[in-house]
Amino acid sequence: MVKSDRAQQIGEAIKRIQDQIATAAVRAGRDPSEITLVAVSKNQEIEAILAAYEFGLRDFGENRVQEALTKVSAVPADVNWHFLGQLQRNKARKAAEFAALIHSLDRPALAETLNRIGAEQGRQIAVLVEVNIGEEPSKGGVYPDQAVDLVEQLAGYAHLAIKGLMTVAPLVAQPDQARPFFARMRELAVKIAELKLPNVAMEILSMGMTGDFTAAIAEGSTLVRIGEGIFGPRRQ
Ligand SMILES: *Cc1c(COP(=O)(O)O)cnc(C)c1O
Repeated sequence: MVKSDRAQQIGEAIKRIQDQIATAAVRAGRDPSEITLVAVSKNQEIEAILAAYEFGLRDFGENRVQEALTKVSAVPADVNWHFLGQLQRNKARKAAEFAALIHSLDRPALAETLNRIGAEQGRQIAVLVEVNIGEEPSKGGVYPDQAVDLVEQLAGYAHLAIKGLMTVAPLVAQPDQARPFFARMRELAVKIAELKLPNVAMEILSMGMTGDFTAAIAEGSTLVRIGEGIFGPRRQ
């Protein structure tokens, strides 16, 4: 089958990003297989997602529950969905249903709701705690000086599995300018891991987007979230 130009472009972009991930990992003395590539498919049509799937990607990220649900049923079932957006408590149940990992837990009230849903379903819901590492009022996430306290509170929830931390770093002109933020994230994760809290494992550091993923990998990212780098500029 002759692939459409759009699919072709997506395939080439994936290859390019994968090469850049591998190069950044090796440069940091890391094994590229430690790093999961999540394709951020918000605002993208199903065809684009299917093209990325054809080129081997299985992890996709969305930031709106409603939009995600229309896509989930249209792609093969072996896709791992990641929920990346700010989550309202009244959408928590749906998010927990489709997402293999919720990246944006940032407050006790949401944790309580998710824990209750997990309890009803007799399982643990996998989450990351979102940290607003640049302390930007416009962004979600707990401020870094409150992150340890928050994780300690959440550790009491038996139906949450806290798998690590996530951040959206401040916008920078050059990836390397984001390195100090990512380094601080890693320090936070190490500090939390040392507490050996129940239900808490600092296995995943979700950090790095199209503009800064090489810097994030240099500082220990295990999961990068790439939208425009794969799909091209988003229509708003
Ligand atoms: C949109 C988005 C991304 C992807 O951003 P790009 O710059 O397109 O790579 C990653 N993470 C979150 C939380 C997002 O909302």
